[in-house]
Amino acid sequence: MIRDPYGRPVTNLRISLTQRCNLNCFYCHREGQTGTTRPTEMTADEVATIVRVASKLGIRKIKLTGGEPLLREDIIEVVHKISQIEGIQEVSMTTNGILLPSMAEKLTEAGLNRVNISLDTLNPTKYEEITGHPFLDRVLDGIRSAVDAGLNPVKLNMLLLRGVNEDEVWDMVDFASKAGVILQIIELVSAPSVGNDVFTRYHVDPKPIEEKLRRMAVRVVVRRMHHRRKYFLPNGAEVEVVRPMHNTEFCANCTRIRLTSDGKLKPCLLRNDNLVDILTPLRRGADEEQLKQIFIKAIMLRKPYFTTRQR
Ligand code: SAM
Repeated sequence: MIRDPYGRPVTNLRISLTQRCNLNCFYCHREGQTGTTRPTEMTADEVATIVRVASKLGIRKIKLTGGEPLLREDIIEVVHKISQIEGIQEVSMTTNGILLPSMAEKLTEAGLNRVNISLDTLNPTKYEEITGHPFLDRVLDGIRSAVDAGLNPVKLNMLLLRGVNEDEVWDMVDFASKAGVILQIIELVSAPSVGNDVFTRYHVDPKPIEEKLRRMAVRVVVRRMHHRRKYFLPNGAEVEVVRPMHNTEFCANCTRIRLTSDGKLKPCLLRNDNLVDILTPLRRGADEEQLKQIFIKAIMLRKPYFTTRQR
């Protein structure tokens, strides 16, 4: 297992497969880039080669994301290829769920183990206001399909937004427990693509919600990844809270490195000043040993934590 200069083991790789998306969430804005696979996107074989190199360094878990990963025409092939790689213990995906009804079964067969489905609201009007599309029913179908296909666990990603969905947290907890899925409440991050005005207007500190969960919980489990706590509630609900803006816990316990859809290793979620291009050398014929050295270089560039100034 490889450790970064601060002693953190790096065991997880989060791969963005495309920038394209079929939603237009106001806090993210990736839509408009639909159509077929772009030359800048890594091919299924390129993704598999990079994962093979990563697995030799001790990476065990792969998360596929985007953009919307299900827009990749070859998504089944991508999942199949990386799930076959020796050393890879888990392949998961983060999706908006819209295309899951027809794909959940095939993804499971291809080797997908679990899925996170993004859902910020159960209100159809609000859903359309947030995403720009009236697709709430499709997502709800997608959640059922994922559970029926045996993906386990299925998690719902609820991004907490001031004045938009704060009042829905407990309805979401109830919905998730009835649907047999885990709720993940996520703190809004100030990403460069979003702009500071969105962050200032919509950011909410989830701490009070977490404190209420702690009081209600019959059991609390601390997960290694980002020191995230999982709260087991008396009604059977399972809830996690992700607080990326709280760097002492988030960064200190980060075991994840990222790969952008155009093939750059991104050592830290909230920084863009330490990216390492691995796709260009791969396309120029670098062998696995050379790619391994590039991977190690990226891991060695991981920083201990972020500050507002560094972002
Ligand atoms: N399209 C997929 C989906 O909807 O899950 C994958 C990509 S999406 C960017 C992955 C997750 O990032 C979603 O759960 C979304 O809510 C979250 N996200 C997007 N913008 C964010 C932000 N500014 N802060 C925190 N989370 C964000």
